[in-house]
Amino acid sequence: MDAKTCLQKLQYVGVLAFATVDEYGAPQIRNISAIHYEPQAMYFFTAKGKAFCKELLADGRVQVLGYTKYKEMIRLSARAIPAPESDQKKWIDTIFSEQPYLSNVYPGDTRNLAGIVFQITDAEIEYFNLGVNPIFRENYTIGSSHITFKGYQIGESCISCGTCLNNCPQRCIEPGNHYQIKQEHCLHCGNCFEVCPVKAVEKRG
Ligand code: SF4
Ligand code: SF4
Repeated sequence: MDAKTCLQKLQYVGVLAFATVDEYGAPQIRNISAIHYEPQAMYFFTAKGKAFCKELLADGRVQVLGYTKYKEMIRLSARAIPAPESDQKKWIDTIFSEQPYLSNVYPGDTRNLAGIVFQITDAEIEYFNLGVNPIFRENYTIGSSHITFKGYQIGESCISCGTCLNNCPQRCIEPGNHYQIKQEHCLHCGNCFEVCPVKAVEKRG
């Protein structure tokens, strides 16, 4: 798996959930399918008058979520910015040619009056597959984004008692002098953190 494949999978999903925060700090989420994909970028269309556009222009932070039929969750954490003015028409036409239904929604030249295309060229991508055993997760980036590590890790004070492993739903803790979590198979459920008798399990990030 890699960032490019994640974007391809999102393209197959088609309709994605886009989450922003409004001026009152409340979460706002909507489905978007007017999206064009490049190997390392995503372009999406909305209307300038929509609250979604206002929220993106005011803040720019957005999370994009897709879920495949194979139980794969793919989430982008990104900052969306308007595509350069000189490219707006090109991207609008590209998105409308790939999504013919849009011409019913914005016929003729109304698309250019109403529409704006945002681009995501820097993003952190979380891939989380619940359809395999053990579960699998990995993080990738596009552009200049960096990975924010989440979940748990085992610190130096581990006494190798094995309690965490016995309570781990995915059995993804490696025994040894110093137990270690196999991060790519960890659910982030927190059981190990709860049961460790010496508080050797630490939160990451
Ligand atoms: S429960 Fe705590 S001390 Fe015991 S093996 Fe796990 S991390 Fe180490
Ligand atoms: S967070 Fe859950 S899945 Fe991950 S190592 Fe701890 S108990 Fe296992």
